[in-house]
Amino acid sequence: MTMTDADVLAALKEAGAILHGHFQLTSGRHSDTYVQCARVLEDPALTTRLAEAMAASVADEQIDLVAAPAVGGIIIGFAVAQALGVKFIFSERQQGVMTFRRSFTVRPGERVLVVEDVVTTGGSVAEVIELVRGSGGVVAAVTSIIDRGGDKAFDAEYRPLLQLEVESMEPQNCPQCAAGTPIDSPGSRRLS
Ligand SMILES: [Zn+2]
Repeated sequence: MTMTDADVLAALKEAGAILHGHFQLTSGRHSDTYVQCARVLEDPALTTRLAEAMAASVADEQIDLVAAPAVGGIIIGFAVAQALGVKFIFSERQQGVMTFRRSFTVRPGERVLVVEDVVTTGGSVAEVIELVRGSGGVVAAVTSIIDRGGDKAFDAEYRPLLQLEVESMEPQNCPQCAAGTPIDSPGSRRLS
């Protein structure tokens, strides 16, 4: 099943995954919009709907396996694998190094779809791609629920479900800081 950008955006807003306020991002930059994908992933029916749309977007590709970086990619990766009817594995950091633990393996020649929840630069995705290729696997494509725009740290076919570029600025250039508006914690704000 396919979903239009408007369908996806409406579903994210309805789930409360897109918040408006005054936020400090993990980068330290400030923004009036915050994307909290956990609001989507706590809803199994919505997660399944989005995953089916992500699976449909790679219907022209042979996919043997889905791989996702922990923690953000695990739930959506599992759901996309279920929609495709293939196995699912995830990578996690061990002493800071991205690794497939738990005897998860990629066999040589396997065609892998890498799945993430939200991609900004795609640093974790790039590490998963390196792991897959290091095992002799082929990265067929990368997908995510949201692409936050900007340059990517990986080199592979990328098919995000929704492109959602959120403007952010250094605190010294932030109009809400200039207006004296206090910083919101994402948990304290609801959608608008
Ligand atoms: Zn600010």
